[in-house]
Amino acid sequence: MHIYDPQNIFARILRGEIPNKTVLETPHTLAFHDIHPQAPIHVLVIPKGAYVTFDHFAAEASAEELTDFHRTAAKVCAMLDIAPGQGYRAITNAGAHGMQEVPHYHMHILAGRTLGHMIARS
Ligand code: AMP
Repeated sequence: MHIYDPQNIFARILRGEIPNKTVLETPHTLAFHDIHPQAPIHVLVIPKGAYVTFDHFAAEASAEELTDFHRTAAKVCAMLDIAPGQGYRAITNAGAHGMQEVPHYHMHILAGRTLGHMIARS
């Protein structure tokens, strides 16, 4: 069960109520710089549709939305100043255990330094 909060901050960005530093925009997808970057390159890719998490989007988005989102994420990777062969990390947090802060599905694309282990070893 995915209950979407239309007042979440990314919904407000999509409605133009809050500014963002856009990297790329398409009919179904928006990519913009994270306001608190955790690496030299930190971009968020979000669908324009009202999806809460990765599994919500993957299960319920149309084929057009799914394709547009992933093609846009790929274009963002190509556009960013990622040193050749040095790679990046694409991650998405979901829910309480994933420590998701903004309940609108988003993919983080991080690059520009060695990013450490995937999760804290606690
Ligand atoms: P998550 O913890 O996966 O939900 O990540 C939410 C991300 O959204 C964090 O990295 C925040 O820095 C970022 N964020 C929150 N508000 C804004 C905003 N207004 N513009 C850009 N990024 C934001």
